[in-house]
Amino acid sequence: MTELEGRAGHRRRRVLVAGGAGFLGSHLCARLIADGHRVVCMDNFLTGRRSNIARLLGHPRFTLVSHDIVRPLPDVGPVDQIYNLACAASPPRYQADPLHTFKTNVIGALNLLELAERIDARILQSSTSEVYGDPEISPQPEGYRGNVNTVGPRACYDEGKRAVETLFHEFRQQRGVRTRIARIFNTYGPGMSPGDGRVVSSFVVQALAGADVTVFGDGSQTRSFCYVSDMLGGLMALMDAPDEVCDPVNLGNPTEFTILELARIVIAALTSPSRVCFVDLPVDDPKQRKPDISRAMQVLGWSPKVSLAEGLGRTIPYFAACARQDGQPLLA
Ligand code: NAD
Ligand code: UDP
Repeated sequence: MTELEGRAGHRRRRVLVAGGAGFLGSHLCARLIADGHRVVCMDNFLTGRRSNIARLLGHPRFTLVSHDIVRPLPDVGPVDQIYNLACAASPPRYQADPLHTFKTNVIGALNLLELAERIDARILQSSTSEVYGDPEISPQPEGYRGNVNTVGPRACYDEGKRAVETLFHEFRQQRGVRTRIARIFNTYGPGMSPGDGRVVSSFVVQALAGADVTVFGDGSQTRSFCYVSDMLGGLMALMDAPDEVCDPVNLGNPTEFTILELARIVIAALTSPSRVCFVDLPVDDPKQRKPDISRAMQVLGWSPKVSLAEGLGRTIPYFAACARQDGQPLLA
């Protein structure tokens, strides 16, 4: 193995991970370090947590830059690849400051694209299934243009992400920047913030505490849940794919569940005394979500491997440990 090769035998790179202290970002930083790369993690700790990257702080190939990507970027030196994972993903969190969410998406991505152009780095955007809004077709292929409310409570996120796809497309067309766009569907696993309000974290935390599991609406809306290790594999395969793979690629697990089914699965997995309670459905909550992953299978040779049962089996102990470490119940 030469100096330039990492453990996995490929070239050692210097990689910037914006949003690297978040759920997906911290797993990605850890994976890149394990593969022998150098990592610069940039985060403003809006939803990211130091505990997510605690094991990386002090590592000689890991650098933390506390910074909000909406502001002009500091000099981070040369990097080969940039992953843009910076943006709160939980609806209550991104709706708490919609203007900042929109700015993070658009201005933050613009800052990172300009950096990528200046230093000739490849750049990947974490887009989202939310670009399909409340879809009229299922499963959703990349060619579907979506059904998004431009002025609803989710618009700061959905429309911000849609605008970023346009920015990426034009930076590639006009400036020759090597871009990648991943449309990520619901992803879960250890490292999620217990209080972030997303459905898997909420249900597991509630069931662990024996509290009511809060199903929004009648629970007939569907989601498709991808385990974090599968998602990382997809993101890294996309980043390393040939430059021709510049159009958006769906990444997610196509096995679809209703939210009521998920509630029952979580309660059963924990043999919890919790009961399901039904509360109001948030405005513009999408009715269904199921990725068509044909493109990812074809161009990346990628498909998810971890079932929901298996993924929950790996996730539940993490939330249980969170409860124990805090010494506090996870529910206020
Ligand atoms: P997360 O909220 O756990 O992580 C986001 C990270 O970005 C946090 O560390 C946060 O502090 C940081 N951040 C937010 N605004 C920032 C700013 N202006 N400047 C610097 N850092 C900022 O979310 P996640 O689940 O890890 O999602 C990562 C990315 O993937 C997000 O862009 C999200 O939109 C996208 N995504 C995630 C999912 C999912 O199910 N997890 C689904 C679709 C898309
Ligand atoms: N949801 C729910 N109870 C909760 C949190 C979420 O029923 O405590 C529902 C939510 O209304 C949505 C689905 O679960 O239909 C997924 O929500 P999440 O916030 O995880 O992500 P989304 O896919 O909506 O961005």
